[in-house]
Amino acid sequence: MSDAAATDPPTDAPPPKRARVVVVGSANTDMTARVARLPKPGETVLGTGFESLPGGKGANQAVAAARLGAVVTLIACVGADGLGDEMVLGLEAEGIDTRHVVRDPDAPTGVALITVDEATGENVIVVASGANAKLSVGLIDMAEDAIRDADVVICQLESPLETVMAALRLARQAGKTTILNPAPAQVLSDELLSLVSVLTPNETEAALLAGNAAVTPEAAAKTLRARGIGQVAVTLGAAGVLLAASDGETCVPGRAVAQAVDTTAAGDCFTGALAVALGEGKSLGEAAAFANAAAALSVTKNGAQPSLPFRFEVEEFLEKFL
Ligand code: ADP
Repeated sequence: MSDAAATDPPTDAPPPKRARVVVVGSANTDMTARVARLPKPGETVLGTGFESLPGGKGANQAVAAARLGAVVTLIACVGADGLGDEMVLGLEAEGIDTRHVVRDPDAPTGVALITVDEATGENVIVVASGANAKLSVGLIDMAEDAIRDADVVICQLESPLETVMAALRLARQAGKTTILNPAPAQVLSDELLSLVSVLTPNETEAALLAGNAAVTPEAAAKTLRARGIGQVAVTLGAAGVLLAASDGETCVPGRAVAQAVDTTAAGDCFTGALAVALGEGKSLGEAAAFANAAAALSVTKNGAQPSLPFRFEVEEFLEKFL
């Protein structure tokens, strides 16, 4: 060994293996108009500002995972229209594999029409799912190779339930870790829940799924585990996340931030980050700590996708506040 080699400082640990994450879900264009006050039915008010940005839980989670270093494939359906063109270009700019983002000739790209009262922050939202409703079981079958190549497969509930079920089943049969972010919340069968390795509800969704709005997150997580889910991660806003697994329940505290300005997509960021960390081989506890840090950073910026942090930002944040 040369002298130089003997005196070299120890090199940093090798970078983690890149996780391979497949996201099955929605892609919408969020169109937000700001108004001095929300209109009444039949009334027109003039807006004071307008923004059109990519969104939808599937696309948000795919972008979160890609920015955090994963190799990401999105399985989704958009229209053969201008908004669909923009969506695909935007996803490709994030390095996401869009081979399974199908262009449906008969349905428009999904949109969320959001009107925000500038004074109160109150909003009214109409989601026109459009092509998202055309994400069929057949499209999951066509993406079988991508699912078989993945470490982790994520679904949410903005897609047809039978499609979610087919994706989870295929992923589990292939031995993959499956994550279901059960939003927007709806009642789910035990058959579907038993296909989920890690469920990531927020407190409201956990209570609804457990069938009791007044239940604590711990009790909800226990009920859900008893229905066949491997692990449950109930997100608790600034307080972090409650984990329930075979060895009991633990809380992984959230990361404090100087100022939370907008929690839009915090849950999407959390789920995307959790998938990346699990795909890199981290334990659920380690993955939850990483996801808390990523999601905390996301609440310090406005908007959905614009607020999603990059890997280096999360690592700097973790180092600073060890
Ligand atoms: P959702 O946005 O889906 O309702 P939560 O509000 O539980 O979900 O937030 C998801 C995650 O985002 C939390 O588990 C936490 O890691 C992070 N988070 C949310 N709000 C804050 C906050 N004010 N400060 C720090 N982290 C936050």
